[in-house]
Amino acid sequence: MFILKAKEQLTNAIEKAKKLRPTVKFDHFGRYRVSGSHGGYYTVLCKKNNGYKTVICTCKGAEKGLVCYHAAAALSLHIGLARQQAA
Ligand SMILES: [Zn+2]
Repeated sequence: MFILKAKEQLTNAIEKAKKLRPTVKFDHFGRYRVSGSHGGYYTVLCKKNNGYKTVICTCKGAEKGLVCYHAAAALSLHIGLARQQAA
């Protein structure tokens, strides 16, 4: 799990997501499933906790607090949806 404070945190993860092009499946707003490089899917949860944008991914990297490309891929969808809702 990590807290999203600045877009710069995602730079490397977005680059990796662009290369690997994982499939992002939409469960509902704030909950996505992203394909892993070794098969299977990781669940990514995006939510606000006391004003902090927290992102949870079920992969090993995210357990250690790393910003993984699953989270970056899910966030790009999530942010787009959030903009649509706000509009
Ligand atoms: Zn992950």
